Amino acid sequence: MGTEGYCVKCKAKVEMLDPKESKTKKGTKIAKGKCPNCSTTVCRMGGIQK
Ligand SMILES: [Zn+2]
Repeated sequence: MGTEGYCVKCKAKVEMLDPKESKTKKGTKIAKGKCPNCSTTVCRMGGIQK
C-alpha cells in the first residue's frame, strides 16, 4: 500500500516515491514524496497511509 498524492505536473494522483511524514506550520500532518513519473515533490494531507 503506497501513499497517494496529487502531482500538479501530471495532473493526476500518483503513488509517491520515498514518502516522508512531515508537519506544516499549523501542525497538520502531511506526507511528502516524489512523483514516480516526473520527480516533482508531491504532498498529501494526513500523513502516510499504512
Ligand atoms: Zn508527476
